[in-house]
Amino acid sequence: MNSNEFIAIEEQYGAHNYHPLDVVIERGQGVWVWDVDGKKYLDCLAAYSAVNQGHCHPRIINALKAQADKITLTSRAFRNDQLPLLCKELCELTGYQMMLPMNSGAEAVETALKAARKWGYKVKGIRDGQAEIIACANNFAGRTISIVSFSTEEQYKDGFGPFTPGFTIIPYGDAEALEKAITPETAAFFVEPIQGEGGVVSPPDGYLKSVEEICRKNNVLFVTDEIQSGLGRSGKLFAHYYDAVRPDMVIIGKALSGGCYPVSAVLADKPVLGVFNPGDHGSTFGGNPLGAAIARESLRVLVEEKLVENSFVLGNYFREKLIEASSQHVKTVRGKGLFIGVELYPGAGGARRFCEALMQRGILCKETHTHVIRFAPPLVITKEEVDWALVHIREVLSME
Ligand SMILES: *Cc1c(COP(=O)(O)O)cnc(C)c1O
Repeated sequence: MNSNEFIAIEEQYGAHNYHPLDVVIERGQGVWVWDVDGKKYLDCLAAYSAVNQGHCHPRIINALKAQADKITLTSRAFRNDQLPLLCKELCELTGYQMMLPMNSGAEAVETALKAARKWGYKVKGIRDGQAEIIACANNFAGRTISIVSFSTEEQYKDGFGPFTPGFTIIPYGDAEALEKAITPETAAFFVEPIQGEGGVVSPPDGYLKSVEEICRKNNVLFVTDEIQSGLGRSGKLFAHYYDAVRPDMVIIGKALSGGCYPVSAVLADKPVLGVFNPGDHGSTFGGNPLGAAIARESLRVLVEEKLVENSFVLGNYFREKLIEASSQHVKTVRGKGLFIGVELYPGAGGARRFCEALMQRGILCKETHTHVIRFAPPLVITKEEVDWALVHIREVLSME
């Protein structure tokens, strides 16, 4: 079957909750993917940063195969021999005392919301049923009903109410607004160190430092959603490292499994994650041995192949060159590490047409927030591959 046939079948039988570029991918290796017609593309989205380690990383695939031959799922009614080691290795890597494993990012966010509320009642002493959680405008944290309850994106909410109460929205990057929004009932502040879906937007330098101080002073949990910005994407293990802060809770997912399996987790110390008692919360697949073995190898690859460092160095290089390549359409080039947004002027006609032109030339990108082209290739990318991409990007950015 060719691309058009696959597309027609999906359009007929699949729900239309996405508007993908019309490329039908059949296989991938590292930063490259191939479509069903044999055409090769450089992947500059990396599955929204889930494949930071590159497509089908041989070590991760080997870990997957080896574990699949042994045991895949025990449920947490029983223990398995992979989860304990993932817990330990992840905590040692990140410097937290505990982790709680889930599958999708949204589930990990839900878990963090539950932990924050429970901590609010059991530890902080918030009146029953009154806990508030503060989040930022333009956030993205997933698609469950509770999560879209604090989204400010009209489309994410349209038709899905009634919503979960207990959320307060403040502007992103505004520490004073946080201070003003906190009440005695505030349990936590949830924030993305870089808003990915919001258009690769970084807050002002020092923002998270102020946030940390305000949260500490008011006994409010400081929670970072590092599902997209974390695990090397920003050029640091966590994007919040740029402000030298230590959040009370960190949410990760996506690249935790190198894109091979849904694995997410919440990291925190005992006073926070310790609020969960047996039976309070769970997931049939969360912490399963297949996912845990894959996540363990994905973390080792991240560290041993120095992907965080590569993201920092090549991210700076890529951004610098994109600034040089800026055309009349380009308003700004921003980001950290290999998490780059090129914002176009409204008059450029939207980022989508540039993404489509890049696709014609063998580069896959996805527009975010209508006017932003996101460049976020797997962190295994080389300088030569960045240079190759830049030749095409330069030409596409200068089209009419
Ligand atoms: C992708 C993402 C999520 C949700 O993860 P899913 O695995 O799609 O549920 C949450 N927060 C951020 C910042 C994300 O980028």
